[in-house]
Amino acid sequence: MDRKLIAGNWKMNGRRADAQQFAAALRHHLADRAPPCDMLVCPPATLIETLRGALGDAPVALGGQDCHDAAKGAHTGDVAAPMLADLGCHYVIVGHSERRAAHHETDEAVAAKARAAQAAGLVPIVCLGETAAQRQAGETLAVVARQLAGSLSDALELARCVVAYEPVWAIGSGATPSADEIAQVHEHLRARLVARDKAAGAHVRLLYGGSAKPTNAASIVRIPAVDGLLVGGASLAADDFWAICA
Ligand code: PEP
Repeated sequence: MDRKLIAGNWKMNGRRADAQQFAAALRHHLADRAPPCDMLVCPPATLIETLRGALGDAPVALGGQDCHDAAKGAHTGDVAAPMLADLGCHYVIVGHSERRAAHHETDEAVAAKARAAQAAGLVPIVCLGETAAQRQAGETLAVVARQLAGSLSDALELARCVVAYEPVWAIGSGATPSADEIAQVHEHLRARLVARDKAAGAHVRLLYGGSAKPTNAASIVRIPAVDGLLVGGASLAADDFWAICA
């Protein structure tokens, strides 16, 4: 896992022109440099096709931001994992704290989505993290362990799974945990994953997410327990995303 994965989550932002500009700028950066890491962008579902076309053969993977747990059916407004795969996606974020909060997604619901993602050939990026109140109460490790156990069902293949530790209070706030705090949580998650499956658990990529930006990315990814970043706001501008990857 020496090679880091830097994943951008555009959330509900962007029009087709933004996707085209982003792709053009990223292609410019990649023209004279090999990708410094594994690069992934998760735009809104409406922009996946545009971004894919504009990126062309650039070595940047695409992902969705959520998927339904059913492969198809009467679920107005939802997107199924096979639809994302059909658009050329290789990943899908599941269980982001914004969805857990705004759509009342439980660990069980997240586990079902992660299973659906793998059934469609996608790698789920399973998000978890404590709230500010839980951290203040000293519950961080217990909360993330519970979310990990609940959000990864027994049926999930750990070998085809990414986990993102995203403290809710760090998302979009400009605040980040200290390097020691990030390391402590990642090491705790790693121990849980290895306890579940010694071989596969050792290789699950553990991303950190929450106010990562060009100015702090290097210090976070240098933490040995961190295998990459899930980046929200700073992934919207191609130059910032590139700076983080570089
Ligand atoms: C996110 O929402 O996944 C995230 C990490 O956001 P930000 O980088 O904007 O804090």
